[in-house]
Amino acid sequence: MFSTAFLDLPPLQTASGTVALPGSKSISNRVLLLSALCEGTTVVHDLLDSDDTQVMLAALRQLGCGVEVQGTTVTITGLGGRAQADAPIAFFMGNAGTAMRPLTAALAVMGGDFTLSGVPRMHERPIGDLVDALRLLGCQIDYLGNEGFPPLRIGKPTLQLNAPIQVRGDVSSQFLTALLMALPLVSQDQDITIQVVGELISKPYIDITLNLLARFGIAVRNDAHSAFVIPRGSRYQSPGSIHVEADASSASYFIGLGAIVSGPGIRIEGVGADSIQGDIRFVEAAQSMGAVVAKGPNWLHISRGQWPLRAITGDFNHIPDAAMTLAVMALYADGPSELRNIASWRVKETDRIAAMATELRKLGAHVEEGPDWLRIHPLSAENWKPASIHTYDDHRIAMCFSLAAFNPAGLPVRIEDPKCVGKTFPDYFEALFAVAQAAPSVIPVLCVDGPTASGKGTLASTLAAQLGYHFLDSGALYRITAYAALQAGLALDEAHADAIAALAATLDIRFEGERVWLGAQDISEAIRTEQAGMNASAVSSLGAVRAALIDLQHSFRRLPGLVADGRDMGTVIFPDATLKVYLTASAACRAQRRYKQLIAKGVSTTLDTLCADLESRDARDSSRAVAPLKPAQDAELLDNSALTVESSVTQVLNWWQSRQPFLTTAVE
Ligand code: C5P
Repeated sequence: MFSTAFLDLPPLQTASGTVALPGSKSISNRVLLLSALCEGTTVVHDLLDSDDTQVMLAALRQLGCGVEVQGTTVTITGLGGRAQADAPIAFFMGNAGTAMRPLTAALAVMGGDFTLSGVPRMHERPIGDLVDALRLLGCQIDYLGNEGFPPLRIGKPTLQLNAPIQVRGDVSSQFLTALLMALPLVSQDQDITIQVVGELISKPYIDITLNLLARFGIAVRNDAHSAFVIPRGSRYQSPGSIHVEADASSASYFIGLGAIVSGPGIRIEGVGADSIQGDIRFVEAAQSMGAVVAKGPNWLHISRGQWPLRAITGDFNHIPDAAMTLAVMALYADGPSELRNIASWRVKETDRIAAMATELRKLGAHVEEGPDWLRIHPLSAENWKPASIHTYDDHRIAMCFSLAAFNPAGLPVRIEDPKCVGKTFPDYFEALFAVAQAAPSVIPVLCVDGPTASGKGTLASTLAAQLGYHFLDSGALYRITAYAALQAGLALDEAHADAIAALAATLDIRFEGERVWLGAQDISEAIRTEQAGMNASAVSSLGAVRAALIDLQHSFRRLPGLVADGRDMGTVIFPDATLKVYLTASAACRAQRRYKQLIAKGVSTTLDTLCADLESRDARDSSRAVAPLKPAQDAELLDNSALTVESSVTQVLNWWQSRQPFLTTAVE
C-alpha cells in the first residue's frame, strides 16, 4: 500500500493483462458466519484478508469452530447452531461493524454468557435498533456502557417467535442482515416473519444476504423488501465449498480501464456474470459507453470498442458507488454525459457530487452540478491540465481519478493521500501498475550520485519511501558482481573483465527489503564489508562489467518511478532523469560517519585508515576511464556535511516539487 503524502501517476499509455481482485468485505464476513452456523465443514475460497475478517475469524475460534487458514482459503467446521462453550466468552470486535452486528444477533439467539466490546470508536457506533428488535424476541442483552451502544453482555434468551419481528429499515441494513442470519437458527417449529418499518435502505446489500442464505439452504420469502419470512423447518446446510466474490465496485476501475485503452484489453478475475452484487450492473453502463465485454461466471474481459467513448446519460441510483467511475470516463466521451438521481453521493464519505465536480474541474473539465445530478463535458487534449487531486479520505475518489492518467495530453496526475484506498482495496495502485504501461521515458527518475559514505544510500532510500518509488542501489550491483566473480575464482582485473562481465549479465539477484539474495544465498552481510566495497570499486572500473550491468539498471525504471543511487546514475545510466542530485560531504566528515557505523557494528578500525581508504576509493572512482565519478552538468549539488538527514531530504523534495507541473506548496 502507498502510505506516501501523494502519489504521482506518470502519463499512462495503455494497459493489458489480468487483475485478480480481492474478495468483497461484506460477502467475506457473511460467508464466515454462515459457515460457522452450519453443521459440517465449509471450504471458503478467496476470502478477503482484512481487519474485519480477522476479527470474525478470531471470534469463531473462541466459539469453538474449527478454523484452518491456508492463504486465502479458509476451512470452517461449523457449530451446528449451538455455541459449544459453557464458560463465559469475551469477544473483542475491534472496529469491525460487519462482524459486530451479525455476531450480536447470532449469539443473542443461541444464548450463553458473552460480552462483546471493541475499540473506542466501536463504542460510539449505535446498535440500539438491533438490540431492541432482539429484546422483543426475548433475547437477554444488557448495555455495559452507554445505553444504545456497545459494549454488550448477552445471556440466555426466552424466545417468543410468534409475533412478527419489527426492525427499522432506514438506519442500517446491517441490522436486518443480522436478524436474517440469526433467525434460521430457531425456525424449526414456526415461520418467522420480520417486518421492515419505514423505507428499506441499501436493498442491494439485503439481496446479497438473501442470496447467500439461499446458498446455505435458507429460502427466505421476500415480500417486496418490506417483510421477510423464514419458513418453518429452515436449517443451515453447508454448500461444501464457496467462492467469495471480488468487490464489484472495485472492479469498476478496471472495467473503465478496459474501455479506454487500446489493445487486447483487461481480464478481471473474481467477479463476473454470476455476481450477486448490485454494482455489477456497472458493466451495462460501460457497454453503453462503448466497452466490449466478454464474461464467465467469475471473470470479465473488457476491451475498447467505440472510441472516443459514447457519452452517457441516465439514472444511476442503482449503482451509486461505481457510477463515480463513469464521471471520469466521461472525460473521454464524444459529448456531455449526465449522471442523474445520485443524491446519495452527497452523504457518503464526503459530498461526492461537490468533490467530483471540483476535482474534474482541476483537470480542466467543464462540469455542471445540481442537487442530485452531475453533467461532465469531455476534455480535449489541449485543455487538460496537470492536477493534484484532493481525495477527501474517500477511497473511491482516489481510485477513479487514476483513470485520468490515460489522458491524451500525456500529463501526469497527482493523487493526494493515496492510502485512503485501504478501506476496500489496499493494493489498488499496485494492481493498476501491474497492468498499466507507460513509455519508459515518462517514468520519473530521481538520481542521487556522490562519493563513498556521503550518505547517498540513506537519502535515496528515504526519498524513495516518501515518493512511493522503486529504489536502485547500483553500488550493490557492483558489490554482488565482485562477490560472484571471486566465488567463481576470477581475479578482479582487466584480464578477467569479459568473464566477469558475462557473469554480471546473468546474475540471479533479488532485493527483498534490506535483504539481498544471489540465487538461494543470502549475501546481505557479505556484500556490506569494507573489503566488499573495495572489491566493488575494482570491478566497477572494468568497462565490460559496466556495460553488462546497464540493462539490469534500466529495468528498475518501473511505474510509478525510481530513485537511483550510485556514481553515474545522472551522467550515464539515466541521463534524462527528472532530477539529479550530487551529494558530497567533506572527506573528514564522511570518514567520521563511516567510523561510527563500523564501531556500532563492532568492527575495529581507526579514523586514519578509513580516511585513507575513502580517499583512495574516491581517487579511483573519479579517475577511471569509463563513467568516472563526477556531477552531471545539470545536477543540483548538495554538501550535507552540516545537514541532518531530514533537512537533506526536505531540500531534495523541494527541488523535486519545483520540477513537477502540479501547483503545490513547498514541503515545510
Ligand atoms: O555505493 P557503494 O559503496 O555500494 O558502491 C560500491 C562501489 O561500486 C563504489 O565504490 C564504486 O566504485 C562502484 N560504483 C560505481 N558506480 C555506481 C555505483 C557504485 O562505480 N553507480
